[in-house]
Amino acid sequence: MDLFHDNPLLAGVRQMLGSFALRSMRPIAARHDREESMPWALMKEASPFLSQTAALDGRKKLTGLEDDPDPKKPRTAARIAVVGSEELGYGCAGIALALAGSGLAASPVARMGTDEQRAEFKKLMSGLDDQGRVKVAAMALSEPATGSDISGLKTIAIPDGDHYVIRGSKQWITNGLSAAVYVVWAQADPAAGRAGVRGFIVARGTPGLVPGRKETKLGIRASETAQVHFEDCRVHKDMMLGQATSAEGAATGLSDTKKMLDSTRPAVGSQAVGIARAAYEFLLDRVRGGSLHGTPMASHQHIMFELAEMQMEITASRMLAHRAAWLADHHQDNVAEASMAKAHGARTAQLVTTRAMVLLGEEALEPDHPVEKWYRDAKIYDIFEGTGQIQRRILARLLTGQNPT
Ligand SMILES: Cc1cc2nc3c(=O)[nH]c(=O)nc-3n(C[C@H](O)[C@H](O)[C@H](O)COP(=O)(O)OP(=O)(O)OC[C@H]3O[C@@H](n4cnc5c(N)ncnc54)[C@H](O)[C@@H]3O)c2cc1C
Repeated sequence: MDLFHDNPLLAGVRQMLGSFALRSMRPIAARHDREESMPWALMKEASPFLSQTAALDGRKKLTGLEDDPDPKKPRTAARIAVVGSEELGYGCAGIALALAGSGLAASPVARMGTDEQRAEFKKLMSGLDDQGRVKVAAMALSEPATGSDISGLKTIAIPDGDHYVIRGSKQWITNGLSAAVYVVWAQADPAAGRAGVRGFIVARGTPGLVPGRKETKLGIRASETAQVHFEDCRVHKDMMLGQATSAEGAATGLSDTKKMLDSTRPAVGSQAVGIARAAYEFLLDRVRGGSLHGTPMASHQHIMFELAEMQMEITASRMLAHRAAWLADHHQDNVAEASMAKAHGARTAQLVTTRAMVLLGEEALEPDHPVEKWYRDAKIYDIFEGTGQIQRRILARLLTGQNPT
């Protein structure tokens, strides 16, 4: 049950991606988690309906409908994203990120790019790569010493004629090793402070762009995370984002980046809800048929209360994500709601998977046990796209009338 149950478009997205999650994601989830490998074959299979560049293409592939071009009319993009993300997270969070992680790079291009930059990005993402794989993109913002506080970026972009020379290292970058195109953030005008931080579109193979070490992770291991180095990488000035004078306004550097992150948080919270729901349903199934100390599990009050608690938290997290998405689709400010959705969803995923581990006992510690995997996957939702503390800081600053950033 959710806020959008009577919307046929969203019901269709839920039904389609829910069945994709069970039919195509679950059977390969343990293997890609164990091998820490990207599900390239599934990514290709899904490409006719799950675009790596949906932020630029619109949602036609998934829904069969064009987005309404009238900027004043309510959109459906944010609601489609939250509904779809829950289903993909329910299938496998790591595979979900492999299927959708390029959106992190596509959305600033859609939001801040000129028509030429959007066309260039789409061109770089079209077709297959030299290994016959679907092309993916990376959004390179975080650095070894700069995660939460992105105003302290050390990567610099030095103007040089018609080019910028980018120098610095990025860390924890989704698709960092395999990307066909990178959106890298660098300080282009130190005197302007935060407003001087700009994004640049950089094609794979550009001299000086050096994909680095692949990281081994606790969870979402089907999604690739790597370092990326920029060693005096020359990028034409036309590839600098934030030059457009669009409905979103003229160049605003870092503040536009922050808005972009606000826009993806409800869907990230929803993906965490999907993980929680997966663990809850697994446990529910056990409780219905199982016994503890010779009596039905369902007769033990402490287990029943745990199930009730889990369902309350899952429903509350989903409602927060849906509310944040509804506001975004209706062109209303949703910074507080987006932070609540992200923080609450991450907390619910950790709470539910942790309690499910405890109630299942040693069974859940077996290799390739799905609940053990969901338990590991859940933690990362409290870290990326703004940690739990950062979401609480944003909310608390808003509550006390301060600038949230
Ligand atoms: C799997 C994965 C994928 C990722 N993908 C990408 C990607 O594609 N692109 C990209 O650019 N980045 C990516 N990241 C990086 C991610 O965004 C950062 O890890 C995140 O922003 C946190 O930064 P940090 O790790 O440097 O922690 P830090 O910022 O160093 O924070 C450390 C701790 O201090 C707390 N803290 C920091 N500042 C405050 C504050 N002001 N008030 C209270 N507490 C505070 C944090 O909450 C945290 O607990 C990814 C990370 C992971 C794990």
